[in-house]
Amino acid sequence: MENELSIEILDALACPACNAELKYKKENSRLICSKCKKEFRIENGIPNMLVKE
Ligand SMILES: [Zn+2]
Repeated sequence: MENELSIEILDALACPACNAELKYKKENSRLICSKCKKEFRIENGIPNMLVKE
């Protein structure tokens, strides 16, 4: 699976907006913040952590 995110990457990441833990949603390949619920796309296995206004 090319778009699979490695668990090591996930452990190192925190939400750029509020610094909370991120959860990986496998079904749509997104990271979701456990606190502010922002969603981050994963592109080619790399999370796109840009916060859009
Ligand atoms: Zn957040």
